[in-house]
Amino acid sequence: MTTKTNTTTAEQHDSMFDAVLARLDVAAKIYGLSDDVANILRNPQKQVKVSIPVMMDNGKIEVFEGFRTIHSTVLGPSKGGIRYAMDVNDDEVKALSAWMTFKCAVANLPYGGAKGGIKCDPRKMSVGELERLTKAYTTAMADVFGPSTDIPAPDMGTSGREMAWLVDAYNKVHRGNFPGVATGKPVGMGGSLGRDAATGRGVMVSTLAALKKMNLDPKKVTCAVQGFGNVGSHAARLLNEQGIMICAIGDHTATIWNEKGIDIKAALEYAKGNTGVLKGFTGGVEIKPSELLTANVDVLVPAALQNVITEEIAHSIKAKLIVEGANGPTTPEADSILQEKGVTVVPDILANGGGVTVSYFEWVQNNYGYYWSEDEVNSKHDACMSNAFEHVWNNGQQYKTTLRIAAYITALKKVEFGIKAKGIY
Ligand code: NAD
Repeated sequence: MTTKTNTTTAEQHDSMFDAVLARLDVAAKIYGLSDDVANILRNPQKQVKVSIPVMMDNGKIEVFEGFRTIHSTVLGPSKGGIRYAMDVNDDEVKALSAWMTFKCAVANLPYGGAKGGIKCDPRKMSVGELERLTKAYTTAMADVFGPSTDIPAPDMGTSGREMAWLVDAYNKVHRGNFPGVATGKPVGMGGSLGRDAATGRGVMVSTLAALKKMNLDPKKVTCAVQGFGNVGSHAARLLNEQGIMICAIGDHTATIWNEKGIDIKAALEYAKGNTGVLKGFTGGVEIKPSELLTANVDVLVPAALQNVITEEIAHSIKAKLIVEGANGPTTPEADSILQEKGVTVVPDILANGGGVTVSYFEWVQNNYGYYWSEDEVNSKHDACMSNAFEHVWNNGQQYKTTLRIAAYITALKKVEFGIKAKGIY
């Protein structure tokens, strides 16, 4: 019997940060966290908002809104991505920054949590405009970012290209060479080998670890993966290499089902030559996007969007195991239903921690000025992810709770230790 962990269906969470707090409160109660420590974690440490004037290609000046929230630096410099999207807002950045605190603690990294964003539509901007916007944002945040204070990385709408621009602007303001001020940089600009596939690799390691606990043979299980971008495509490939049959894949353009197993190598080749998307891939039959989530498979990997596993979808899910590649794919309301149905959920703050783990390795290599081989990065990554999984699993057993709440408890224990060890004045 596990303790009932989540909110009732009557409690909907319009605010993303409230949804984070709902889970934090449940974990704090089960673990017995003091109100004082819980109160510290309920409030982000620092929130910075800047306005960024940028000279556009047409000669006009446009003013953009930029955000950075540092949720916690208790366990080390804060770490978290920067997202470029029109719907970026305070609440979202706050929620994602708290998730980073918990994710880094679960992965046992010496980092706190942060997140940043700029309200913009990167697809409607030229490369020159994006470079000026990134460099102006970095200049505005020059006292916030720092290799030993706050370390950004790419997120939605940004990539290694933006990180290279960010490092360049930071270096100019601070008159030096600070590759460790951001991670997710291109290899050759201080980036790490293995970073590209790291999040998908972490999903693979978590899936294998969970299957082992569930006494399921990877060579006899089937899987559906939602999202065929960075996380989903690497996860599908690596899971398939472990003998898992991938019966469904999907992106925003197409959802494909094949009960005999999809040829993932062929799908990757196809997407590569088709602007990265699956539309037109003929390695199976096309199904509705929602059918992927409720497909008759053993393992479901949501690796695209947040809030896709809703109450309604949760009732129809057939998978025994869900491994969250995406951030926040399951609503708190759906969590309750999955728990009642006995579905094992490896939560985002554990399952997709492979990316930030290799970001940490990138930062270590930058600080050393010495770079590792891909095999070295991968083996260190696999060991970290396996340890993190084991810790969370053991806390789940000890506190008789779900892996999601166990992951929060794992993080709370570490952050609570840090707060108490440092002291409050
Ligand atoms: P990405 O942009 O590379 O890929 C996103 C994928 O989702 C694409 O294949 C896209 O077509 C698909 N998608 C978009 N809308 C969809 C829809 N309506 N239905 C089905 N598929 C849809 O992004 P990513 O880096 O792979 O990130 C995916 C998720 O993983 C996000 O939640 C992100 O926050 C999370 N995440 C990413 C990393 C990382 O290292 N990239 C690390 C941790 C968490």
